[in-house]
Amino acid sequence: MSTEAQKATRRARVGIIGTGFAGLGMAIRLRQTGVDDFILMEKGDRIGGTWRDNDYPGCACDVPSNLYSYSFAPNPEWTTTFAHQPEILDYTNRVVAEYDLLRSTHLNTFVQDARWDADAQRWQVETSQGPYEFDVLVSATGPLSAPSIPNIPGLADFEGPVFHSAEWDHSVDLKGKRVAVIGTGASAIQFVPEIQKEVSELKLFQRTPPWLLPRPEYATSKLRRSLFRRFPILQKLGREYLYWGHEAYVIGFTRFSGVMKLPQLLAQRHLRSQIKDPALREKVTPNFTIGCKRILLSSNYYPALAQPNVEVIASGVSAIGKGSVTSSSGEEREVDAIVLGTGFHVTDIPIAEHVRGAAGTTLAEEWKGSMQAYRGATVSGFPNFFFVLGPNTGLGHSSMIFMVEASVQYVIDALQQMDQHGIAQVDVRPERYRRWNQGIQRRMPDTIWVKGGCASWYLDANGRNTTLWPDFTFRYRALTKRFDLESYTTLPRREAAEPATEPTPATA
Ligand code: NAP
Repeated sequence: MSTEAQKATRRARVGIIGTGFAGLGMAIRLRQTGVDDFILMEKGDRIGGTWRDNDYPGCACDVPSNLYSYSFAPNPEWTTTFAHQPEILDYTNRVVAEYDLLRSTHLNTFVQDARWDADAQRWQVETSQGPYEFDVLVSATGPLSAPSIPNIPGLADFEGPVFHSAEWDHSVDLKGKRVAVIGTGASAIQFVPEIQKEVSELKLFQRTPPWLLPRPEYATSKLRRSLFRRFPILQKLGREYLYWGHEAYVIGFTRFSGVMKLPQLLAQRHLRSQIKDPALREKVTPNFTIGCKRILLSSNYYPALAQPNVEVIASGVSAIGKGSVTSSSGEEREVDAIVLGTGFHVTDIPIAEHVRGAAGTTLAEEWKGSMQAYRGATVSGFPNFFFVLGPNTGLGHSSMIFMVEASVQYVIDALQQMDQHGIAQVDVRPERYRRWNQGIQRRMPDTIWVKGGCASWYLDANGRNTTLWPDFTFRYRALTKRFDLESYTTLPRREAAEPATEPTPATA
């Protein structure tokens, strides 16, 4: 692309940041409702979001695939009940092709700065590919897009390979190597059993043991697939069954924590049946109520830990040497490589540093360490800016795609109402924004995430849970079905605000 072309401002009605399930879901619904004037901006060189980035050995979904897929794009062909990463990415690519989204996608386009231009009533967006202008900007960057690299003294000086699970270095052969794994979250419990089979020694640094339930994964039969293909209603019914089964967790998470005794008993039984060594059993037994952190599903993690080449060091990490890792309890282990299963920047999402509202301040400055958004979607002082999967829309129990679809519906209805009423600008009223977030935070002390006695990434630096939705997901869907215009201040299009530049068609 020539420098001149890079400088030309590209325009569209809607700009979408990110091409994971959230961004693609937004784009598809726009297309379905006849809005073709949108551009998807993707920082990577391929679409796919977190399921593109996370391709570590064993990467799979821990929500059943029949639920973890778009409601409007059922997939009768899932080969297993819990699809693995390549199959999920294939599914995504098929949906992208079906809705012809590549022609609206600008790859390698990193959003550096987005600012609300009050005079033009538009978002001016600077990217690594030049400037853009949008009437409406949708952030769909998701909560799991920026790997968290721990600030451990000596990490930069380690002489062997070091990589994060979300940036797996497939050029590194771990076979026969002594490997340290830091972290025992949802990612680590999936890749540990895979790499355990090939490494000579695996030193697992476990700061907090997670609760695990068995993973009911099995290959789907040809008969089931053919029935789902021929009678879509059967797959739909199966999806409903899964949805309501998962939804039952909300009762224990947010209302009656005593209910969590049952899954905790099952998890204890799972642990006892898979680990016979009492010392190891003690090391990996959590000391908090199940559900306080994400409940993990695995049937091969505990057996891997019980193998002779694995040592669980039940401690955080205090230092890293040129060829060793030292635990907070002072145990030093010599290793050839380090894999970080240390999670993501969830409560300090990077996009918050790049988006500036009407007052010229960034989302991060507005939030002061605690994210918030009205109905998980809008922030006061940031007109025409929407989140898909914004603050407090995360789940610890069910499919995030349900929340994606609910969030997207809110934006779609907003656009339709703006058209209908000749509105150019909507901004959530400060008191609605404040009250909504006070309401969310008032519910938190009763939840298992606060009462359960653990520290987790659900809580931010101020100790607030700004990540999870503290209610049934159908409630969220009901709240986002209609864009509540009365909660917003609105402005019509100002004549002087007509664009100086001609609309530029999107190109892939
Ligand atoms: P995570 O759940 O945040 O786990 C990070 C792990 O690293 C924790 O064990 C944490 O210990 C540890 N850790 C972090 N910093 C550390 C430090 N400085 N020293 C020592 N240990 C440290 O991250 P994740 O496993 O990548 O999973 C993140 C989320 O991704 C999941 O909760 C889930 O939502 C999603 N995920 C989903 C799937 C799926 O199947 N759908 C699969 C993988 C991931 P503490 O517990 O003590 O903080």
